[in-house]
Amino acid sequence: MLIFTKIHDLRAFLNTARNKGQSIGFVPTMGALHRGHISLIEQSKKKCDLTVCSVFVNPTQFNDKKDLERYPRTPQKDAEILENGGCNVLFLPSVAEIYPKADVVSFDFGNLDKVLEGKYREGHFNGVAQVVKRFFEIVGPDKAFFGSKDYQQVMIVKKLVKLMRSEIEIVPCPVLREPDGLAMSSRNTLLTDEERKTASVIPRLMQMASQIIPEKGINVAKSVVEQELAALQNVRLDYFEVCNVNTLELLEKYTGDEKAIALIALFIGKIRLIDNLEIN
Ligand code: AMP
Repeated sequence: MLIFTKIHDLRAFLNTARNKGQSIGFVPTMGALHRGHISLIEQSKKKCDLTVCSVFVNPTQFNDKKDLERYPRTPQKDAEILENGGCNVLFLPSVAEIYPKADVVSFDFGNLDKVLEGKYREGHFNGVAQVVKRFFEIVGPDKAFFGSKDYQQVMIVKKLVKLMRSEIEIVPCPVLREPDGLAMSSRNTLLTDEERKTASVIPRLMQMASQIIPEKGINVAKSVVEQELAALQNVRLDYFEVCNVNTLELLEKYTGDEKAIALIALFIGKIRLIDNLEIN
């Protein structure tokens, strides 16, 4: 696996590959890699000739400075994991390399960034879009792979490529989970043993809600989730919502006519976790 830290060197290498007719798959990450990330690398390897993974903790998408400081950083281990996962290129730029000027770019995502994560983490998706646009321009991939764990992010990135009038294909990939159902996340490593045990409530409640919603409705599911979480120490719910899968419009009633998805965000201690589950 080749490792680049400079845009110039990465571009030179990728231009040569492109001229040889190789297709490029891109997996952007913030590092502290786990099997969820590797599943994206595997998808890219299946669909493209060359797989590029970036590891960059993007400051512009953190609305909470403490969260940015606390975010796990394990670049050496990441390189090993990527090498073993068969990744071809690791791009490991500095903040100065990605943001040479302190430009503030602003995007119009309509309703998409006004709800859920966008509502609770002001400016988050603008920061995500800023860095993804920059990486897309640097790497110029044919396809880019994103995890559906960050469901709203996938929708934002799809909208971004439309706004950019770009041809890049966005490939959403399934959520990888721990044996107890907890969605794999770099943030899970920050949980204490006790908090990690508590976190298994998330997949349990999501499963429960997905059964309650078609039978008894969204409001009953919301009350159950709120009550179950209120009974736990050290847990604070940001939101539990049910949305249209295509527009993320918040639903008050479940009719079964439109495809719906339940999304949750909560704090366990100081660590904020998210998850989602489609309702059938
Ligand atoms: P992150 O490093 O958390 O920014 O994530 C980088 C990419 O990996 C994003 O597209 C995430 O959605 C994806 N990802 C994170 N966790 C998982 C998971 N458990 N399963 C599948 N993809 C994931």
